[in-house]
Amino acid sequence: MINIPNIDKKRIIIAGCGFAGLTLAKKLKNKGYQVVILDKHNYHQFPPLFYQVASAGLEESSILFPLRKIFQHYKDYHLRKVEVESVDTANNLLITSAGEINYDYLVLAHGATNAYFGSAQMQKYSRGMKTIAEVLDLRNSLLMNFENAVTAQNAEDREMLLTIVIIGGGPSGVEIAGALAEMNKYVLSKDYPEFKEIRAKIFLIEAVDRVLSTMSRKSSDKARSFLEKMGVHVLTSTKATGCDEKTVFIDSGKSIGTGMIIWTAGITGNQTEGLNADCFSRGGRIRVDSYNRVSGYPDIYALGDISLQTGERYPQGHPQVAQVAIQQAQLLAENFKRMKRNKSLKEFKYKDLGTMATVGRHLAVVELPSVRFQGVLAWFVWMFIHLMSIIGVKNKLMIFMNWAWKYFTYDQSTRLILRPKGCADISSNNYSTPE
Ligand SMILES: Cc1cc2nc3c(=O)[nH]c(=O)nc-3n(C[C@H](O)[C@H](O)[C@H](O)COP(=O)(O)OP(=O)(O)OC[C@H]3O[C@@H](n4cnc5c(N)ncnc54)[C@H](O)[C@@H]3O)c2cc1C
Repeated sequence: MINIPNIDKKRIIIAGCGFAGLTLAKKLKNKGYQVVILDKHNYHQFPPLFYQVASAGLEESSILFPLRKIFQHYKDYHLRKVEVESVDTANNLLITSAGEINYDYLVLAHGATNAYFGSAQMQKYSRGMKTIAEVLDLRNSLLMNFENAVTAQNAEDREMLLTIVIIGGGPSGVEIAGALAEMNKYVLSKDYPEFKEIRAKIFLIEAVDRVLSTMSRKSSDKARSFLEKMGVHVLTSTKATGCDEKTVFIDSGKSIGTGMIIWTAGITGNQTEGLNADCFSRGGRIRVDSYNRVSGYPDIYALGDISLQTGERYPQGHPQVAQVAIQQAQLLAENFKRMKRNKSLKEFKYKDLGTMATVGRHLAVVELPSVRFQGVLAWFVWMFIHLMSIIGVKNKLMIFMNWAWKYFTYDQSTRLILRPKGCADISSNNYSTPE
């Protein structure tokens, strides 16, 4: 049993302290509930900048924030670093890695992870970007491949080690492709004079006929032309059908030899045992009503990436993006307040604030509700919005300094291969990802 005092207040357990969980927890301050926050990490992470850590552009500490620091002065708040395992809905108990805990209300906000559509090979040999642990593994392996390329005994091995295949042309795939292309252009030539004219080869594979397929055709085309100008080989209408340790197979029957497969193509809700099977939909998302209540469970809510809320405007559910998670959490906090006053609950209506993606220096695409633009202005807008969204003044300053440094010097701050003791650091093919 997790030891938390029983007080004369209803207990809300928030499982997962990402965008949704953190917003809800902050908004519940002084609202008359006991709040228990559970997360398997002791920090909040900022996934939109994962690709910059993966490509050695930012230090990981700039995009992480310790949860205990955030809640230092919150009364009746309890934080536990535990992994959520399952729910015993009959007894209002949540089962975690440190034992069980009872709830009056349970909010599931523990996000999503990679989906490999049943490909065990892809799961084994590709590297994902869904957690900071995966991102650091990717960065280390990438840098290790460059080092191994210097000592490679023949040109074939060197080329394989310097070939990167990114699968999935959504925002994450496009952003990491652009960042690696910049690294290729500005950093590899200086760090590795041994490569002379040889540069890394970057492939971006996308199954549908364009990258950034959730944005307008114009933004897609712009992003593609930006990437191609930077030397990325963009293969659209192309499916990766499988892989082995050193090859990606594509549906044309061709294959690409590679030392690094990056997987950004699929997403599925983190597992939650104990709920009825019919609560789950496509993509492992938990079906919720317009108040984010899980179907069939009046005391259980789901928010953000893990939830599926359908409606007239979003028959397939909302996009799995930060704004949906934040806005759902804001409304749920207000509804918890209304419940206390026996007022009727408000239904969720998503306010789409727009989408954006960056490809590299002066190259970005932005689609706001009233205006769309690309290029230099879009890039500055992208930077400003991401900087403002990061938690903590120190993190904002660190990122701003990093970006300014990179802007003027064309250099990247962190190119260190750092693996915990016990993880091989000579071969790049250490596929374990310690959490
Ligand atoms: C690489 C990448 C780039 C992205 N870029 C953008 C972008 O530019 N703009 C945008 O709007 N969105 C972007 N997204 C999507 C955005 O990050 C998500 O939509 C958002 O994080 C969802 O918020 P959430 O609170 O539902 O989940 P998360 O923010 O993922 O939070 C889930 C939390 O649950 C915790 N957790 C997970 N499993 C367990 C468990 N079993 N037990 C306990 N705790 C657990 C995790 O540690 C985490 O703190 C990106 C995502 C990725 C992966």
